[in-house]
Amino acid sequence: MNLQKPLWLAVTGILLFGACRKEKDESVRTTFFDNSGMDTTIRPGNDFFSFANGNWVKNSKIPEDQTGWGSFYTLYEENQKKTKAILERAASGDHSAGSVEQKVGDFFASGMDTATIEKLGYDPLKAELAKIAALKDYKQVLNYMAADEANRGGALFGLGVGPDDRQSTLNRINFYQSGLSLPEKDYYFKTDDETKKVRAAFVSYITRLFTLTGTDSTAARKKAEGILAFETALAKSHKAPADLRDPIKNYHKLTVAELNKLTPNIEWRSFLNTMTVKTDTVLVSQPEYYQALSSLLPSTPIDVLQDKLAFNYIDHNATLLSSPFVNAKFDFFGRTLSGQPQLSERWKRVAGNTDTYLGELLGQLWVKEYFTPEAKERMLTLVNNLQKAYRSRIERLDWMSPETKKTALVKLDGITKKIGYPDKWKDYSDVTIKRNDYFGNVQSARRHDIREDFAKIDNKVDRSEWGMTPPEVNAYANPSFNEIVFPAGILQFPFFDKDADDAINYGAIGMVIGHELTHLFDDQGRQYDVNGNLRDWWQKADADKFTAKANQVVNQYNNYTVLNNLKLNGRLTLGENLADLGGLAIAFDAFRLTDQSKSNEKIDGFTPAQRFFLGFAQVWRIKIRDEDQRVRVQVDPHSPAKFRVNGPLTNFVPFYQAFNVKPGDRMYKPEVDQTKVW
Ligand SMILES: [Zn+2]
Repeated sequence: MNLQKPLWLAVTGILLFGACRKEKDESVRTTFFDNSGMDTTIRPGNDFFSFANGNWVKNSKIPEDQTGWGSFYTLYEENQKKTKAILERAASGDHSAGSVEQKVGDFFASGMDTATIEKLGYDPLKAELAKIAALKDYKQVLNYMAADEANRGGALFGLGVGPDDRQSTLNRINFYQSGLSLPEKDYYFKTDDETKKVRAAFVSYITRLFTLTGTDSTAARKKAEGILAFETALAKSHKAPADLRDPIKNYHKLTVAELNKLTPNIEWRSFLNTMTVKTDTVLVSQPEYYQALSSLLPSTPIDVLQDKLAFNYIDHNATLLSSPFVNAKFDFFGRTLSGQPQLSERWKRVAGNTDTYLGELLGQLWVKEYFTPEAKERMLTLVNNLQKAYRSRIERLDWMSPETKKTALVKLDGITKKIGYPDKWKDYSDVTIKRNDYFGNVQSARRHDIREDFAKIDNKVDRSEWGMTPPEVNAYANPSFNEIVFPAGILQFPFFDKDADDAINYGAIGMVIGHELTHLFDDQGRQYDVNGNLRDWWQKADADKFTAKANQVVNQYNNYTVLNNLKLNGRLTLGENLADLGGLAIAFDAFRLTDQSKSNEKIDGFTPAQRFFLGFAQVWRIKIRDEDQRVRVQVDPHSPAKFRVNGPLTNFVPFYQAFNVKPGDRMYKPEVDQTKVW
């Protein structure tokens, strides 16, 4: 199972994200708006992102231990400091064994205990590496991967447990494409200089890990080249990121017998039995990958398979080991792939891992201290206002028939709203945390995660579960649950502040709420019904009109470029762009109902509407390193921040009115050419 979350991995929420550091500007907090960050020499209608953020972009520097900088990053930095205070207190106190404080405190202490970690070197890996070295053929390789309790399915099987798209009350085991170490398939085939550099650095990285675990450098290099060749063969069968977005094309329900026929060299019954999975029905998102794997397994030399397993095992655990391993991993994933000059401080990495592995324990302590019932109440009111605004937009749509509208409104009214933290916390009683065993603690948490997941297979879905932890600066929509979710971590300044005026809150968190609501009706979300089932509830003519509008959005974003003419992928980013377009419109409608919007009173020299758009643009002020930007253009379903601001505004008449956008301005489009979906 591929549980590892590399630095660049996309999440389904509002953005993706590395670790962060701090910037503080008290003037921002007092007026909730940063005048000094604007560049008023730019015409708002030419480039609103730069009008609102130009001076900030010019004057701010991405910290050395970061891949990017901006609002999300500074808030994450704040949250990490809060987390640190909680963890240090928990680590220093005397808590009863098995208590929440003992587990998170000792986990953090074990990760900070570098004396023990350095002394151990790679000792924690030796038993498992010996097992891998003893494997005789590919059948034993399959059995080994299935038997691994901390990583079921190992290096070559991607698997997870979740609702069946066509029967959303039932959990199933789902297999998806896997086996690659680089961000996506194109990294194995593209011949431009940047990609070639990444591949060369990847080979050096594998070589370095093998050298660190006792292989001589010539043999290590040969192993590395064999692994790259094997992953390249697997990559041929992979779908590109944009092709993974179609829920129908990526849905295949198969019996074990059908799967055996499709992939004859993988004996699925015995594979599933070894994993302790009894089911006879599985979902396979990308069968093409498993067909390729099945034909490659017998023809690949056993030592290449062993090398692949060993490399993945070391890489998967490198950050838990002594500094040569930590540095090797950072040099490749951090420095080369993301352009980050320096490793972040150790406490930040260990705090991040505490959140990853004990998220709902840490979360309990976090919300007790940093999230109030009043904030939850205020947020719920905002969400309800946004939902009302969305309702009347749907009622007014000129392109949708009354039949489809009726079903859309049923779906909208049926949305579950989760705010702050879960009502019911997960049980971690089978996780053992010792103060001097960082490696063992993580394995215990991983075994727990898998047991918890596997217990759900073929059982009823529990809709109270959360997919993010409370301290996260993010939000998400889950069409299978027909829900929108806002962790406590994002419900703070600059996204949300109880003392800020409505223009600021609606432009910031209001737009985020509208964005998540729209996800349930974007090109993917619209295919799910009120119960979270993948089922077509659209009148054909309405679906055709939606698709035509969506294609306009694809074309609009296909024409945006970053760096040296690197084009955005309008198909990959379609869902996010639709959510940005809808989110802005809904948030502005909701804002229009407030007293401030009706008052026309200027603050900081701006009308309420101007302030709404400026607040919106400032929340998205983000700078990203070129290397990281390059990876994101290939794998991130979100557009770069500049286009998350300018893209929607180009299609929005109230923005034109607020800033007097006219023909000749670069963002100007005649109203007939503007795209309005929701
Ligand atoms: Zn989104």
